Amino acid sequence: MGVDALQFVDSSGLTMLLLSLFSIFLCIPEYPWYRGVIGLAMTYTWIYVTHRLSHSWPTEGPLSFVNWHWWFHHRTPKLLDRTVELAIETFNDLVLSLGVLALQYVTGVWWIPPWVIVFYSLVWTSTHIYNYSIVGSSTHRNHHEHVFKNYGPDVMDHLFGSNYEETLEDIAPISFNAILAFLVTVGLKQLFHPQAV
Ligand SMILES: [Zn+2]
Ligand SMILES: [Zn+2]
Repeated sequence: MGVDALQFVDSSGLTMLLLSLFSIFLCIPEYPWYRGVIGLAMTYTWIYVTHRLSHSWPTEGPLSFVNWHWWFHHRTPKLLDRTVELAIETFNDLVLSLGVLALQYVTGVWWIPPWVIVFYSLVWTSTHIYNYSIVGSSTHRNHHEHVFKNYGPDVMDHLFGSNYEETLEDIAPISFNAILAFLVTVGLKQLFHPQAV
């Protein structure tokens, strides 16, 4: 992988710590604290795998109809106004990342604490739409230029060998997304389970 522990701590350490602490807070008291951290890692994996699968999905023929990520986010020339396409991609990111909630509901197997999924889905969606697409990021730009690289989250690309560059992405700015997403998720948890917060 070409990434050492020191580089990981430097580029991702504080943000990962924050994400883990927030996930722990959101999973207790219904789950033991460590399930928050494991659940966060599982949500990372789910998002990486679903994004990667959406790039294996046909871009032509009847099956391409459901490949919204390609139609409205990767395809050039653009079909619609950029703002409309970003709104559709926001919806698409939320549906894909929250899909694991539906899967757990259908199977009745609640491996990942649900509020951890909601929390990291908000972090991921806001990062992709705001930090990557509106502000711009070289790591994510490389995904758009080389669609089988840099699916994100960055650490997953390094684990599974789909990283475009050897250096890890500096995810410090994502701390702000984490704080906002945490506040929204605490609010939602309070709304749906008032006794648990
Ligand atoms: Zn993108
Ligand atoms: Zn993509």
